[in-house]
Amino acid sequence: MLKIYEEPVIEEVYDEITTEKEVRLFIKREDKIHPYISGNKWRKLKYNLEYARQQNFSTLLTFGGAYSNHIYATAAAAKEYGFKSIGIIRGEEHLPLNPTLSFASQQGMHLHYMDRSTYRRKHDTEVIGPLTEKYGRFYLLPEGGTNLLAIKGASEIVNEEVRQFDYVCTPVGTGGTIAGIISGMNGRGRVMGFSALKGDFLKHDVQKLLQLYEKHPLTNWDIKTSYHFGGYAKVSPVLFGFIDEIYKKHQIPLDPIYTGKMMFGIYDMIRSGEFAPKTKILTIHTGGLQGVEGMRR
Ligand SMILES: *Cc1c(COP(=O)(O)O)cnc(C)c1O
Repeated sequence: MLKIYEEPVIEEVYDEITTEKEVRLFIKREDKIHPYISGNKWRKLKYNLEYARQQNFSTLLTFGGAYSNHIYATAAAAKEYGFKSIGIIRGEEHLPLNPTLSFASQQGMHLHYMDRSTYRRKHDTEVIGPLTEKYGRFYLLPEGGTNLLAIKGASEIVNEEVRQFDYVCTPVGTGGTIAGIISGMNGRGRVMGFSALKGDFLKHDVQKLLQLYEKHPLTNWDIKTSYHFGGYAKVSPVLFGFIDEIYKKHQIPLDPIYTGKMMFGIYDMIRSGEFAPKTKILTIHTGGLQGVEGMRR
């Protein structure tokens, strides 16, 4: 089992705007579950690592960009569990290593760089075959870590306390986390995702994941696609200003790729009156605070 350092608790966020609009805002601090394997990555890895152990794998192999939270978390989880790990990193090597890759390497992860055009075909057998020849037998975690065992783990973000909320909000990258939350809610409340990527395709991706995972259709969810700030990992002074303000007022650290954009979106929706008075909104702090310092310019 991966270790839980701090059981994630739900805190209320009191703000002028929630008072004015008569809504109640809460945050579940999944970011505190582990110092290195934070938030949703801990949830998504848990059953995958148990499965890999049962199947007698000794090596994990996965994919990610140079700033990937998933690479960072997988490296730490592999070390904690006693697996060897290989990270296939998109693009060329840049030295000195950035803080994410330097940490991964310190945890014992072997870094293998892959040019961008090959990386696009990373899950194809023509790419995986040579990796198996080179590294031997490995347990493959897809980019972002999303598969059915990850959805099962993410569904455990939801407990009886979470099921009491009118809205449960989460950032969305590949959709594994929100699929798990939708499953965990099992028809209660509404689940609202905030896309960290530009475009509408994530609704379709989440639909597909749910079809694979759930026997019955669950329709009490939606994905907001207008708070990506220009696209994945795009940032702006307005976004950093918002993140700083939340930290000053509430001592809640947010990251600029996922949780910061979600919270910005929720504040914007509260301000424009999209939630009826007395609505109880829960946000999930999915973690991702590694590498935040490197993003400020
Ligand atoms: C990876 C990540 C997400 C996205 O999770 P998906 O399951 O890929 O949708 C959200 N928040 C944080 C902090 C992350 O690191």
